[in-house]
Amino acid sequence: ISLLFGACAPEESIGKAVPEKIRVTDSNETVKIGFSMDTLKEERWLKDQALFKKAVEELGAEVEIVAANGDDALQLTQAETLIQQGIDLLVIVPHNAEATAAIVQKAHRAGIKVIAYDRLVKNADIDLYVSFDNEQVGEMQAESILELVPTGNYVYIGGATTDNNVHLIKKGVFNVLQPAINRGDIKIVYDQWTEDWSPEKAFLNMTEALAANNNQIDAVIAANDATAGGVIQALEAQGLAGQIPVAGQDAELAAAQRIVGGTQTMTVYKPIQTLTQQAAALAVRMAKGEDVTTVKYVNNGKIDVPSILLTPIPVTAENMRDTVIADGFHTGTDVYGAV
Ligand code: BGC
Repeated sequence: ISLLFGACAPEESIGKAVPEKIRVTDSNETVKIGFSMDTLKEERWLKDQALFKKAVEELGAEVEIVAANGDDALQLTQAETLIQQGIDLLVIVPHNAEATAAIVQKAHRAGIKVIAYDRLVKNADIDLYVSFDNEQVGEMQAESILELVPTGNYVYIGGATTDNNVHLIKKGVFNVLQPAINRGDIKIVYDQWTEDWSPEKAFLNMTEALAANNNQIDAVIAANDATAGGVIQALEAQGLAGQIPVAGQDAELAAAQRIVGGTQTMTVYKPIQTLTQQAAALAVRMAKGEDVTTVKYVNNGKIDVPSILLTPIPVTAENMRDTVIADGFHTGTDVYGAV
């Protein structure tokens, strides 16, 4: 059982940086972490779920994991339940960067610190942000496509606007593309977000992009592998799959297979195990009341959030074995098929 000090926060103190109650876990008690996930839809989140559990348990702590299926109201009630159950710290993957600020306030009022995992919570006194460098994800995508296609018509298929990562990724993409756009070497002929990261929506957007440009498209950058999958289906429908370079992100198995099969050009691999291990270690330390300091800070509209941004890795058919497969993220048999 955790010890609570101080009085309950009055309503008007909501939003204060310092919680009114400080939850301190006795060193002999098992630390309990709550992990509130947005979704388990993309393959990566199943890895996050399993590896985070493993990492927390290896540290002798417990974890309760919930997932909200992309539903803001559900994510809020699930987080409230975790808080009521007496977790010592909350780790959250927000579905909606803005809406989840309410969860941070509720946790703080109960004296519980909150770590934003993979995605930043906007306009909230979040205690720590642990992710990959998403701007670098976009830069890696654009660098690898621009090298192959230095001139021509480009399509940009973004992610869900409710996810702060999509803005960082897009910034990274355009950091690299803008000089080529300014020179007139490349032209962005279609630029669209994808509601809820849905592959079906990405398919429809890509179909629209092809129709609007009489199929005169030379390269596509998609914000992740799920949307890249939708893009490639739209290209297949026009007999163009494998002829137009496509970038994605996540190193999903289906994407790795498309890369070695030649219909997708690259993906950005983010070693999830590193993320889960870092997040778990910091969560347990913070739950025990230890201070955590970071070198980087990311502004979330309200404060400069102490942040840890891990380095992603660009993956093509060339370095598939040395990266994704060498790490055991996927097996060679899964990627290349049985020989
Ligand atoms: C993550 C990606 C993921 C996407 C859709 C982003 O916030 O960083 O890895 O593909 O959400 O779930």
